[in-house]
Amino acid sequence: EWYDAALDRDVLLAGPRSFCAGVERAIEIVGRALQSHGAPVYVRRQIVHNAHVVQDLQRKGAIFVQEVEEIPRGAVTVLAAHGVAPSVRQQARERDLVVIDATCPLVAKVHTEVRRFAAPGSTVFLIGHADHEEVVGTRGEAPENVVVVDNPDEAARVQAVRPDRVSYVTQTTLAVEEAQESARVLRDRFPTLRAPARDDICYATSNRQQAVRAVAADTELVLVVGSQNSSNSRRLVEVAEAAGTPAHLVEDATEVDLAWLRGVRRVGITAGASAPPSLVDELVHALSGLGAVEAAESSVVDEHVQFTLPREVS
Ligand code: SF4
Repeated sequence: EWYDAALDRDVLLAGPRSFCAGVERAIEIVGRALQSHGAPVYVRRQIVHNAHVVQDLQRKGAIFVQEVEEIPRGAVTVLAAHGVAPSVRQQARERDLVVIDATCPLVAKVHTEVRRFAAPGSTVFLIGHADHEEVVGTRGEAPENVVVVDNPDEAARVQAVRPDRVSYVTQTTLAVEEAQESARVLRDRFPTLRAPARDDICYATSNRQQAVRAVAADTELVLVVGSQNSSNSRRLVEVAEAAGTPAHLVEDATEVDLAWLRGVRRVGITAGASAPPSLVDELVHALSGLGAVEAAESSVVDEHVQFTLPREVS
């Protein structure tokens, strides 16, 4: 089948793409914990939503678990970048775990907002996907008050006990425009709705969406490197499709279906905030096996964000 897909191609790389500061920090935290404490280091849930990152850290001695109950008492434990509910921290204390927190500071900021907004009798609308780990953690800050709102349709239906005591926050990795639409619907229905001081959708999410939109406008096919459970990667596929260009999410180069490439001369490539840059290089290399590849980058913004490490590993 390969000869159907064989063609000289232009590849347009979206900039920014791939790792964000929160993901780099989380991976660094596990690496440093392994260095200073030795293996094994336990990690609750996937440190970031990427299968390759998880496998790599497993090889270095990290053990990934679903719940803190699975971790031996007193063991060194890293909490993943998406954050956890306070109840999980409590369970960790009860098991005397040595906790190193890799929650992204931009997720921690949303937790703080929920605590601030959640007065008795009030409702905090959390715009996001109910089954996403970040949303589960954020909701856990005030389970009595938080109501998850998935999309604008739901925003039109949700109820509040006291419609004059309402606020909203959002998941950090949503599609920017859809989240704004949900917020707008809520604001129309609840005029006193309080909003976060700064957007909760993080810089990495909005920059990658802006970048993929620019690339999609100039290519016939967009490939997004990322795992299926990565929210921000899935949104990149949607944004490219909304710009009118077919797009596919691939874990790595092995998942590319040659049929997608038939007759396609201009391919856009990006990667979610949790996907390693090396996977993008491998994908470009794989395409060069089908014909000459001319790669260029289309950069919409430079990123210089960096977060400090928690003191346990700094
Ligand atoms: Fe933090 Fe945004 Fe990266 Fe999530 S995507 S880890 S919120 S910087």
